[in-house]
Amino acid sequence: MKVAVLYEINKPLVIEEVTLPPLKYGQVLVKLKTSGLCHKQLEEMTGKRGHDPFLPHLLGHEGAGIVKDIGPGVSFVNKGDHVVLGWMKGKGINSEPPEYTNGRNKLNAGWITTFNEYGIYSENRVTSIKKEMPFDVACLLGCAVTTGYGVVNRIAKMESRKKVAVFGIGGIGLNVVQWASVRGATHVIAVDLRNDKLELARRIGATHVINAGNEHAVDAVRTITDGGADYVFEAAGNIHVMEQAYEATNGKGLTVLMGVPKKEDKLCIDPIPLYLGRRITGCHGGDTVKDEDIPLAVDLYLQGKLKLNELITERIHLSGINEAFQRMKEGKIVGRSIIEFERSSPD
Ligand SMILES: [Zn+2]
Repeated sequence: MKVAVLYEINKPLVIEEVTLPPLKYGQVLVKLKTSGLCHKQLEEMTGKRGHDPFLPHLLGHEGAGIVKDIGPGVSFVNKGDHVVLGWMKGKGINSEPPEYTNGRNKLNAGWITTFNEYGIYSENRVTSIKKEMPFDVACLLGCAVTTGYGVVNRIAKMESRKKVAVFGIGGIGLNVVQWASVRGATHVIAVDLRNDKLELARRIGATHVINAGNEHAVDAVRTITDGGADYVFEAAGNIHVMEQAYEATNGKGLTVLMGVPKKEDKLCIDPIPLYLGRRITGCHGGDTVKDEDIPLAVDLYLQGKLKLNELITERIHLSGINEAFQRMKEGKIVGRSIIEFERSSPD
């Protein structure tokens, strides 16, 4: 089977043939149909996540496919199941990660890698889904879509008919826009510097968009919401944007910080509103419960209430992965780029 391997930081991934080891206790063999490309892998490939002791290794953390075999002890998935693969842990065994080899090198893989035609997974990283769910959109449920769900419903515990603003329309921000809309928010305001991202936000549920390069974002949110939004989410990872998100929150509202700031950054905010009822919190992921949240997202998609096709803005063959990451680096991918393993001709 073909896989993409990261041998060195800041070097292209190498596509090569590897052999599959036999399944061990708690492992599941999956033939992948699709995988999303997430910003986290670009960070790994460019060394943004610090020293990488696991090189060479496989990567990717959101996928979808069909179970081809199960190892001893596996009880939550069966041969033939359609599954979502994701980095979040769910029910089932937490097995040893697989070890692949290309005949010369041992290739590391954590519990989840998806830039590979087949993969061996720990049972608790695999979630069975309804067979009507198309594979292209199913892979999106392994990461950003379910994180967005968790942020809105589990972290913010958003009530319906509220006014919401989202600063930063990347993978997570976009999905927070969508889930806020599904949750029944009366106002969903998307704030970003790029019109193409704002356009996409509109297509999946934003009622208003603000280009922060053209107008004062805090004033604009306050005007649209008549005094500030009930929930403001920051997904830009920029300290000044975090301060703006707090400023754009109303007296009893909640500011949720999701972007990762730089190490030395310090937040500078007026604390008085906190005494009077405004709240601010941060989150790492969305406290997603994948065994509940993924099937729910599948149902909502099949009922036409969750828009996932709109999130896919590029489809590639595994062989085009380096060019796709280059486009991601240059900011040319507006939504999600996905790998379709059975595309007939390489891009
Ligand atoms: Zn991700």
